[in-house]
Amino acid sequence: MRMDKDIKKGAEFIENSKNIMVFSGAGLSTESGIPDFRSPGGVWDRYDPSDFDFQNIISDERIRERYWQMSTEFYESMRDAKPNKAHIALKKLEDKGKLLAIVTQNIDNLHQKAGNSIERIIELHGNAFSVSCLECGKRYARDQIQERIRNGVKIPYCDDCSGILKPDTISFGQTMPEDKMTRAFICAGECDLCMVLGSSLVVYPAASVPDYALKSGAKIMIINRDKTPLDPKADIVIHESVSYALVRMIG
Ligand code: ZN
Repeated sequence: MRMDKDIKKGAEFIENSKNIMVFSGAGLSTESGIPDFRSPGGVWDRYDPSDFDFQNIISDERIRERYWQMSTEFYESMRDAKPNKAHIALKKLEDKGKLLAIVTQNIDNLHQKAGNSIERIIELHGNAFSVSCLECGKRYARDQIQERIRNGVKIPYCDDCSGILKPDTISFGQTMPEDKMTRAFICAGECDLCMVLGSSLVVYPAASVPDYALKSGAKIMIINRDKTPLDPKADIVIHESVSYALVRMIG
């Protein structure tokens, strides 16, 4: 079968690579029970993402209230999620000394929960498990803030300065973290194999990271249920669940 051949080829690619960059997206986490928010029935079907532009969140109190409602729904779907076999396989990849970095679009903390080193995880869209004050920078554990919301607070504010609080995730219209983008591109330039896992590569600028790996001469392996714009240029494309393929390649 074609796919078995591709999985075998993928295992050989991993065996022969020294510096692997993983680029992960929502498809990696669906098997942990976290819905892909952009799929039908997802959170974005019930809320209009363009309402939650960063400037609107800052300037309009009613939007901020709805933002916290939406964001609470997001968070509760991922709070107790556990890493799946795909995440565990990536931990094994690091244990083998082959993992350069995991560049992720996910905000669900599952790479950390699987045991990958924090310094190897580059979260381009932030992390939903902490909250920061936009005025003074004070950080809070997400659960601490969610408890206030459970107790009836509609819009939480900073204890120290009464500033606006926001989860440490990147909203529409919010600038991408420049240091993380820079690190991601450095890794893309250094890796010998780029594995795109569970990302349809449609959200920019994040999706430009695998593009850069390709241009820098890395081999490209894509494992995603759906087609991606990079498929025609990739060395291996597997349209399967990420865990199915990774367990067979890595263990
Ligand atoms: Zn503050």
